[in-house]
Amino acid sequence: VLPTVAIVGRPNVGKSTLVNRIIGRREAVVEDVPGVTRDRISYEGLWNGRRFMVQDTGGWEQDAKGLHRSIAQQAEIAMNTADVIVLVGDGTVGITSGDETVAKTLRRSATPVILAVNKVDSEKAELEAAEFWGLGLDEPFALSAAHGRGTGDLLDKIVATL
Ligand code: GDP
Ligand code: MG
Repeated sequence: VLPTVAIVGRPNVGKSTLVNRIIGRREAVVEDVPGVTRDRISYEGLWNGRRFMVQDTGGWEQDAKGLHRSIAQQAEIAMNTADVIVLVGDGTVGITSGDETVAKTLRRSATPVILAVNKVDSEKAELEAAEFWGLGLDEPFALSAAHGRGTGDLLDKIVATL
């Protein structure tokens, strides 16, 4: 069986877009409306000759309390089932309470956690990623899943961690 990379984070940060970028196909559903990914769906990825499964997550509840509960739950499941977890944040929004909630769970993870700051579409936007050091995880990786900026470095890190 192949090792699993779980992509977690709050709705609309670009998890499904990142999954599509990683697998090189547009199979994960990307929506402007938050909460579209129904549950956990896995796809096969390949990078530098390493095969792995990448798992998109979602299934968000709409009210704030339910939302916090469901993202924490997804993080818990990832900690129990994945080999590497990628927590995705939105560089255009910055750190939110939802990010804090999931980071709090992931800080006690025995499974390695990689922090990705998405929607950093230009070099000028790089600075926005720095505030994500504040989540108390490892170094934030600035990237743009939509444009492919920085995703190679993230994939290098993922396969080096697997
Ligand atoms: P998810 O809910 O976390 O799975 O997020 P989606 O992948 O469905 O994306 C949510 C929205 O963010 C969509 O409108 C995407 O087009 C947009 N998006 C995703 N990645 C990027 C990015 O790198 N840059 C920008 N500007 N928008 C992005
Ligand atoms: Mg999604």
